[in-house]
Amino acid sequence: MNRSTLADWFFNVVSFGDGWDSYWGSYRVGDDTVNRRAFTLIELLVVIAVIAVLMSVLIPALKSAKEQAMFTVCRANLKSYGLAGSIYLAENDARFPNAQRWLYDIGGQAVVPCRWHDATSQADGSLWPYLGHMDVHMCPLFHVLSRSIGPDHLRHDQSIPIDPQFSYSMNAYLGFGTIGVVRKITEVKNTAAVLFFSEENCWTIPGVSSLPLNNNILWIQRTNPFNNIATYHRTKGSDLNSGVANVVFVDGHVDSALAEDSYEIAYPK
Ligand SMILES: [Zn+2]
Ligand SMILES: [Zn+2]
Repeated sequence: MNRSTLADWFFNVVSFGDGWDSYWGSYRVGDDTVNRRAFTLIELLVVIAVIAVLMSVLIPALKSAKEQAMFTVCRANLKSYGLAGSIYLAENDARFPNAQRWLYDIGGQAVVPCRWHDATSQADGSLWPYLGHMDVHMCPLFHVLSRSIGPDHLRHDQSIPIDPQFSYSMNAYLGFGTIGVVRKITEVKNTAAVLFFSEENCWTIPGVSSLPLNNNILWIQRTNPFNNIATYHRTKGSDLNSGVANVVFVDGHVDSALAEDSYEIAYPK
């Protein structure tokens, strides 16, 4: 046996003397050196297999823990929106902010496809003083998704870098916008059943959303769908529209909703 090879030296170091050497020795069949090396190779393969199994278990667990954290932050953001909304209502004679001018006062009816990622656009809408810090305007999952999907959105201007500014929109049926059907919270019979703000995505969905995330309003219609709530949380498989959206209702409570329920919770009743 040639003890001068590096492999044998390493084997002697890790075998901790004669006792271990006799332990390993029990596995020896035929030529000493060849079998020691073969055993090391099998060990290596077993270790690689164990690592592969551990990774296959741990990576999805870590991924879902990260998604759960983003889901929780998103809900906390909408809770802040609900609080800001209730303070606004208390200080403005129970009137909702204008659904088209709550975040950017230049809103009006114009379709502004790239505003959501335009850092030069200054938020100065009527709800702005109640919302303050920019962090609450962004679902962390949307921030991740929009970085890759962003440039594919409708009527994108290549000269405006993708720097996401907001991901939540207000229910168009509330407030003074041209679409609004109720102006005061006192006109909403069931404040726990009507959505105030929800997340909106930046990509079109045929038959569901033709004008996504552009002017800060969610105009969810039964027959002519311009907008819809963004259901990219807790998706089934890789379909980003198959999960749930986080929503804050007029009474300030936050819950999740499915795309198919969006008209029911959007239209004031
Ligand atoms: Zn979210
Ligand atoms: Zn754009």
